[in-house]
Amino acid sequence: MNILHRHTLNKITLSNFVGMVGAYNKGGNHWNLLVVHWKTQTITLIDPFYPSQPNNCEAVSKFQSYLLLRKNKSDADLQVTTYQPIKHPIQQDAHNCGFFKAIVLFQIAECLFNAPKLDSTIPFQVYFPSTKRALQKSRKQFAENILNNSDNLGNLCSQCGKGSQIGKWIGCDRCWRWYHARCMGIPESFATSVFWPCPICI
Ligand SMILES: [Zn+2]
Ligand SMILES: [Zn+2]
Repeated sequence: MNILHRHTLNKITLSNFVGMVGAYNKGGNHWNLLVVHWKTQTITLIDPFYPSQPNNCEAVSKFQSYLLLRKNKSDADLQVTTYQPIKHPIQQDAHNCGFFKAIVLFQIAECLFNAPKLDSTIPFQVYFPSTKRALQKSRKQFAENILNNSDNLGNLCSQCGKGSQIGKWIGCDRCWRWYHARCMGIPESFATSVFWPCPICI
C-alpha cells in the first residue's frame, strides 16, 4: 500500500493500483471515507453516521472532473462511472468519527488486497461491532497499540533530540527528563548531587 501526497499525485499512474482510499472532511468537523475501485470504476463515500446513500453520485461527478484535470496520459482510460454502496455499521457514539473511519479503512484495505470482493456484483460489506461499549474498547486497544509500537524517546536528550553519549548528561530532579550538560550550558564539572530543575520545570 502506498500513501499518496497531494503534490505527487500527478506523477502517479493510478491505474497501477487496485483502488484508492482517502479521508474526506465534511463541514470542517466530520470525517468521511472515500473509496475508489478502478476495476469496477466505482466510488463510495462512507459516512460513519449514515449508510452509504445513492446521492454519493456527486462524488462520482467530482471525481470525474478530477481525473480530467490530472491530464495523466497513462490514465487516459480511467473513469469512475458508478456509485457502489458499501454496507457498514453506523457509529453509535458521538466521540470520534476519525477513529471510526480508521477501523473502516483498515477493513476495506484488507478486503481490497486479500479478497477483491468489489469485483463481484454482491454489495461490498464491512462489519465490526459498533456499540458504545465496543467502540470504547477498540479505542483503548488502538491507543495501547500506538504506545507499544512507538519508539522509546527516553534515551534522547530532551533539548537537542539526539542520543549521542558525548559528554556528561544531566537529569532533571523534578520531571526526570535527561539532557546533555552542553545543551543546557552547564559545565562538565557540575556536581550531580546539586538539585537541578530543567528549564521546563523551573
Ligand atoms: Zn542535547
Ligand atoms: Zn524537568
